[in-house]
Amino acid sequence: MRSETEVLKELEARGLRRKLTIHDRMLLNFSSNDYLNLSSHPMVKKRAIDAVEQFGTGAGGSRLMTGNLPLHEELEKKLAKLTGMETALLFGSGFLTNMGVLTAIAGRGDVIFSDRLNHASLIDGASASRAEVKRYRHCSVEHLSDLVRADNCSGQKFIVTDSVFSMDGDIAPLRDIYELARHEGCILVVDEAHAIGVFGSGGGGVCRDIGIKPDIITGTLSKALGSYGGFAACSAPMREFFVNRSRSFVYTTGLPPAATAAALGSLEILGSSPEIGLSLLKKAGLFRSKLNELGFDTCNSDSQIVPLKTGENSEVISMSSSFRKAGILAVAIRPPTVPPGTSRLRFSLTLNHSNEDIMRVISHLEAG
Ligand code: PMP
Repeated sequence: MRSETEVLKELEARGLRRKLTIHDRMLLNFSSNDYLNLSSHPMVKKRAIDAVEQFGTGAGGSRLMTGNLPLHEELEKKLAKLTGMETALLFGSGFLTNMGVLTAIAGRGDVIFSDRLNHASLIDGASASRAEVKRYRHCSVEHLSDLVRADNCSGQKFIVTDSVFSMDGDIAPLRDIYELARHEGCILVVDEAHAIGVFGSGGGGVCRDIGIKPDIITGTLSKALGSYGGFAACSAPMREFFVNRSRSFVYTTGLPPAATAAALGSLEILGSSPEIGLSLLKKAGLFRSKLNELGFDTCNSDSQIVPLKTGENSEVISMSSSFRKAGILAVAIRPPTVPPGTSRLRFSLTLNHSNEDIMRVISHLEAG
C-alpha cells in the first residue's frame, strides 16, 4: 500500500493532482452548474431566508424520526409534477440519491447495465449494490441490447444511464433505451441531474420532453435549481420502498429548510417562465457552433454543457490558466473524471451569459 504522499507525488507528475481553490467571483464564470443563475435570484434567496425564520437552520432529525417538514412533502409533490412521475422522494444530494436508489433496488443475482460514462454516483451505487455490473459503450443501444439479450441471469436486469452526460454534454438515446428496457423486462433508471430545469417545457427533463416514463428518474436540486439536495421520482410503492430500504434516506438528516424552500422557489420561477431552459439551450447552440467553426472538438454536446476536448492533461491546464488570466473561469477536466487521453475544458453556459460574454471566450481562443 503506497502512502498518501507517494500517491500525491505521482498524481503531480502525471498532471492529475487536484487542488481546492476558492473561485474568484470577479471572473466570468463559464464552468458553473447553476445553469439558470437561480442560486442568486432574489425570490429564491427570500424563500430560503423565510424558511430559516420559520423552521430554523436544520431539519433536526431524519425524515422518519423528527425531521419531516411540510416543506419536504410540498417539494416532493412539485418534483413529481415537474417530472411527470407519480411521486418523488428527497435525498441529501444527487450523489446520495443514486447510491440510495441503486443499493435498494439491486442486489446479488441481479445485473446492472451501465453506460461507460455514467456519473460516479451511479457507478458507486451500482458496485455497492452487489449486483453484477456490465458496462456498455457510451450511448450504444446496439452494445447494450447485445449485452442484455446475451445475459441469462436469474435475477432482475436494470439499465442505468445519465440523460445529459455531465462531462460530454451529450444526450443518451433514451427512446431506444426505453423500448429495449420494456421489451426485455429491464428496470430503467435515468439520472436527469443536468437536465432538470433545462430540458423540456418547464424544465421537466429529457424523459418528460420526449414522452417516456422510466421506472425511476433521479435528479439534483444543486444544479439548475440553484439549491442543494437530490431526489428520486418514481411510483408510489417504489417511494414507499425507498422510505423503508434506502440507507442513504433512512439513516440521514432531512434536507435543511433553506435548501428545500429555495428549490421550491426555483420551481415557482420555472412554472411562470417555462421557456428559460430553452433559451439557455439556444445560447449553448450558438457557443458550440462558434467553437466548431474554429475547428474545436465539442464531443457530441447537445446541451448547455460544452466540452472543448484537447486530450492532453498539460495542454488543458495551460488553456485553463490562460483563460483565468483573461478573466474567464473555464475548468480543466482530467482523468479520472474523464477517460485517459480525453482531457478537456468543460464550458457550461448559464442563462445570464450575454452574447458579449460568449464572444469574449471565442476571441480568446481565436487569439490562441
Ligand atoms: N448525477 C450526475 C449526472 C451529476 O453530474 C452529479 C453532480 N456532478 C450528480 C449526480 C450528483 O449530484 P449532487 O451534486 O447533488 O450530489
